[in-house]
Amino acid sequence: MRRPVIAGNWKMYKTVKEALDFIEAFKPQVKNATHCEIVIAPPFTALSGAVKAAQGSNIGISAQDLFWEKEGAFTGQISASMVAEVGCRYTIVGHSERRQYFGESDETVSKKIRAALKEDLVPIVCVGETLAEREGGHTQRVIETQCHQGFTGLTGQDFSHIILAYEPVWAIGTGRTATPELAEEVHLFIRDMIQRAFGEKVAQSLRILYGGSVKPENIRALMAQGDIDGALVGGASLQADLFTRIVNF
Ligand code: PEP
Repeated sequence: MRRPVIAGNWKMYKTVKEALDFIEAFKPQVKNATHCEIVIAPPFTALSGAVKAAQGSNIGISAQDLFWEKEGAFTGQISASMVAEVGCRYTIVGHSERRQYFGESDETVSKKIRAALKEDLVPIVCVGETLAEREGGHTQRVIETQCHQGFTGLTGQDFSHIILAYEPVWAIGTGRTATPELAEEVHLFIRDMIQRAFGEKVAQSLRILYGGSVKPENIRALMAQGDIDGALVGGASLQADLFTRIVNF
């Protein structure tokens, strides 16, 4: 039985104070939620405060990205060990906004996954096709390439520490959600691919989240699909009441 994960990606939103206010309001609302793992990914500046504010609760804190080197002359970058040091347990890797605006490639995704695993961080690895790729009939090929190249050198054992997120780019921040059936089709495709590469046991225990305009109104139908194991939520994770309703799907 795969334990669902509901993760909020705050992107470049919230000051430290706003992050702490959110966690104070959110914590009591989800304190009885034992049915899923709850994760919040604030901006780097709020990570340390968020970890402290979430201490003793059922909320795990995630970075939104990291750099693969441990330290060095890499102005502006944050390493996996730095993220782990402040108490994060997860990191998002390969979000489509990183791929689209900051030159993230499958090769850098692969390096970041390995750096995260070395520091015992759980990478939440994002894959997904653009609208043009979907309309051109290339969804499976795109995701297959992202996975093959992004997962280079990983073992089945590594996969027990990884969470995947299928995020169709055309559904992120657009209000246009994939239908549950369409998302399920891609999740099944990913699970089959992982099964061929790493075996049945690894594939069956891998959590695959759906991301793209998840809201309180559509979470239940998405979660009713057999291969959707949770959600990566952007916009709707910024308000404590909305995110609570998603967590308590
Ligand atoms: C995201 O940021 O990963 C995301 C899915 O955003 P939204 O929920 O706003 O579409």
